[in-house]
Amino acid sequence: MNPDSSPDGLPGNAPRDLLTVVVAAFNEADSLPLLHPRVAAVLDALAADGVGGRVLYVDDGSRDGTWEVLQALAAGDPRVALLRLSRNFGKEAALTAGLDRIETGAALILDADGQDPPELIPQFVAKWREGFDDVHGTRIERDGEGWIKRATAHAFYRVIGRLSKTPIPRDTGDFRLLSPRALAALRQLRERHRFMKGLFGWVGFNRISVPYQRDARVAGRSKFNLWRLWNFALEGITSFSTAPLRLATYLGLLTAAVAFAYGVLIIVKALVWSDPVAGWPTMMAVILFLGGVQLIALGLIGEYLGRLYEEVKQRPLYLVESWRPASGAADAVVA
Ligand code: UDP
Ligand code: MG
Repeated sequence: MNPDSSPDGLPGNAPRDLLTVVVAAFNEADSLPLLHPRVAAVLDALAADGVGGRVLYVDDGSRDGTWEVLQALAAGDPRVALLRLSRNFGKEAALTAGLDRIETGAALILDADGQDPPELIPQFVAKWREGFDDVHGTRIERDGEGWIKRATAHAFYRVIGRLSKTPIPRDTGDFRLLSPRALAALRQLRERHRFMKGLFGWVGFNRISVPYQRDARVAGRSKFNLWRLWNFALEGITSFSTAPLRLATYLGLLTAAVAFAYGVLIIVKALVWSDPVAGWPTMMAVILFLGGVQLIALGLIGEYLGRLYEEVKQRPLYLVESWRPASGAADAVVA
């Protein structure tokens, strides 16, 4: 029995460790029928080991047959709970919606496309039982992803790792197990711009990584193209670092210093050599350069200001269209 089965003040006399697998799905009608049997098999194995398991699928406003597929899965398996959002809110919001529904026990986050092998879950659970709060999968290889994606992902982890004050482990996605207390802590972070990788690190507690081989998608296409990944990177950097603002300050100082020195030079030239006509090209170059630097700095401030604006509005992170709890036993993890 895990010692922290209920640090959140919920009934602590649950007979077993409880684990809810949370899967965010957006247009995954082709992948889910392939994924669920694998998850179900793992839950069976866990049950034999004294861990009560549930699966919560969050339909993130899919436009294909995902919801119908999910309902069929739920009808055939009492351990399945379903949540449908009112529209596509994005993976981070969908995961948050799922995690918010877990009342007791630990959570495990899994991708719907089979890229995170469910077969690793027992390893994660073993680590949890050893007392770890955040067990995350670290990819040692990425199959089925082009070199551009690999190279940009690589660069991204290195940049964000240097900028963020709290640890953001490299090559680590959302595939992870959160103990009840880590989950409770994460749920207190209600920011609108949710860079989950950073939020997990911010929470702290005992963390450990489990290396794994990242497979290719079982079906369908990745929802994250390069443009979306770029925005995702911007999100990460602006959510977890103000270094760009500091950079703007230093860039400004440097430009001012150079401009000042150049100004002195021009004045001295005019006074000493009576050189009345400064070149039009130099003037143009200086004006354009200063204009460029100012616009960049303004844009940087705008990035932060825009995010501030969205936080201040305090809108809900997601809206639920329908909710179907697991029909299984009374110790249902999700209620
Ligand atoms: N996803 C989601 N909402 C979205 C985009 C993606 O819930 O708006 C889910 C998707 O169904 C999958 C997971 O997030 O389960 C990861 O998405 P994907 O495989 O497209 O990303 P990649 O693995 O290529 O980074
Ligand atoms: Mg994927």
